[in-house]
Amino acid sequence: MLKFHNTLTGQVEKFVPLTDKVVRFYACGPTVHNFAHIGNFRTFTFVDLLRRYLKYRGYQVEHVMNLTDIEDKIIRKANEAGQDIRTFTETYIRYFLEDMETLDLEQPEKLVRATDHIPEMIGLVQQLLDNGLAYESDGSVYFKISRFPAYGCLSHMNFAGNLAGARVDVDEYEKADARDFVLWKGSRENEPSWEAGFGAGRPGWHLECSAMAMKYLGETFDIHCGGVDLIFPHHENEIAQSEGATGKPFVKYWLHAEHLMVDKDKMAKSLGNFHTLRDLVSQGFKPRAIRYLLLSVPYRKQLNFTIEGLQGIERRLERLTDFSKRLREAVPAAAPDAELLADIAKAQADFETALDDDLNTAEAMAAVSFLENTVNRAMAESRLTETAKAAAIAVLDKMDSVFAFFDKKSEELLDEEVQALLDERLAARKARNFARSDEIRALLAERGIILEDTRDGGSRWRRK
Ligand code: AMP
Ligand code: ZN
Repeated sequence: MLKFHNTLTGQVEKFVPLTDKVVRFYACGPTVHNFAHIGNFRTFTFVDLLRRYLKYRGYQVEHVMNLTDIEDKIIRKANEAGQDIRTFTETYIRYFLEDMETLDLEQPEKLVRATDHIPEMIGLVQQLLDNGLAYESDGSVYFKISRFPAYGCLSHMNFAGNLAGARVDVDEYEKADARDFVLWKGSRENEPSWEAGFGAGRPGWHLECSAMAMKYLGETFDIHCGGVDLIFPHHENEIAQSEGATGKPFVKYWLHAEHLMVDKDKMAKSLGNFHTLRDLVSQGFKPRAIRYLLLSVPYRKQLNFTIEGLQGIERRLERLTDFSKRLREAVPAAAPDAELLADIAKAQADFETALDDDLNTAEAMAAVSFLENTVNRAMAESRLTETAKAAAIAVLDKMDSVFAFFDKKSEELLDEEVQALLDERLAARKARNFARSDEIRALLAERGIILEDTRDGGSRWRRK
C-alpha cells in the first residue's frame, strides 16, 4: 500500500488519488535566472523518483511543472544584461532542460512558463477581488489574510494576531513577517507589465503557481510538491489564493523534500556553498553518480553533500553496473534453484515495500544490494539457471525504471568486447547452442550493434 507523508496533516497517509488510475500532480519548477545547483536538483530528482514510482505502481501521471520566468531577480538581471525577460530566461531554460536530461529526469507532461499564463492570473486576482479576499492599494493588489481563516494550515502556524492591513511586497519573506501578500504588483518603470481591469502590472510569484496548477490539473488535484523552503510562504499562499477563489480544497497531498546541506547550511546560491551539475561533471563526476547520491537518502531527511561521499557513490555504482553487465552476459547453469528464485522475488518485494513507505529510497537501495549480492553468489557458484537469470534481469530492470542507475548511452561496447561476443556466438552456433547465439545477437542489438551473417558462416557487424 502506497503511503506518503502529507505536510498538510503532518501524517503518513494511504495514497488514494481522486480518480482511479490517473495521478495529477504539480511540482514547483526553477526560477530561471541562473544555473540550477545540485541542491535544487535534489528536489527535482525526488520529483522524478515520485513520478517514476507512481508509474511503476500502474498509475498514469499528469505532471505539471512551471518555469518561473518573471520575478524580481529576473527583471533586475535581464535589465543588467540589456535583454528582454523572454530572451534572458530562454538561455537558462535551455540549460535547465539540458541538466534535466543529464540527470535522466523525465520530462513532465506539461512544462509551462509563467508569462504564457497572464490572462489566467488576472482572472484569479479578479475572482479574489470579487470574493472580498483581495484589495487594491497604491496600484497593487494584495491578499487579505484575515479573510481566509485557514491561513497557516500548511505551515501549522497561527497568524490570527497579525497586523490588519500590514503588507509585504516582496515574494520571499519569513514567517515572522507574514502579512497581506502581493498578488499583482502595480507597474513600475523598467519593469514588464500587462494591462488588467484592476490596473496594469505583473503577477506576484505565488499567484503564478496557483493559476497554472488549476488551469492544467483542475481546481482540486492529487499532489503538490517542492522543497521544504517553499512550505512558507509560497505554498501557504498558493492554498489561500486557490481555495479563496474556488471555495474547494486545492490539493490532497503536499510532499516536501528536505534540503541538500553543506555542513550545517542549506546549499544555496546566496551562501556561495553550491555546486552546479556542470561543475561536477566537468570535474569528471558521472551524472548517474550524482543522481544516485541525491536519491540515496530518503527525501524527508537532510542530505549532507561531500565530495568524498560522491566518490564513494561512484564506486558503488561501478560495482552495480559491472554486476548488471555480468548478469546479462552470464552463461546459465542447469540445476534448478528454488531458493534463489525466492530471494530474487524477495528483493523485488522489499524494494516495493520500501518505496511504498513514503518513498524510502535508502531501504529500496538495500533491496538492490540484496539482489546484487544474492545473484553474484549464485553466479560465482554456477547456480544461476536460465529462469533465475531472466527473473534477476527483469527485477533489476524494474528497479532501474525507478532509479535509472544505468546510463544506457555510455554503455557502448568496445570493439574488442564486440569481437569477443562474436567469437562466443560463433562457437555457440558450432555447438548448435542456438539459444545462446540468439541471446548474444539480442544483447548486441540492445547495445546498438547490428549483425549480418556472411555466407562463409561468419558475421559482420556495424554500429547503429
Ligand atoms: P528555485 O529555483 O530557487 O525556485 O528553487 C527550485 C527548487 O529547488 C525549489 O523546489 C526549492 O525548494 C529547491 N531547493 C532550493 N535549495 C535547495 C537545497 N539546498 N536542497 C534541496 N532543494 C532545494
Ligand atoms: Zn510554485
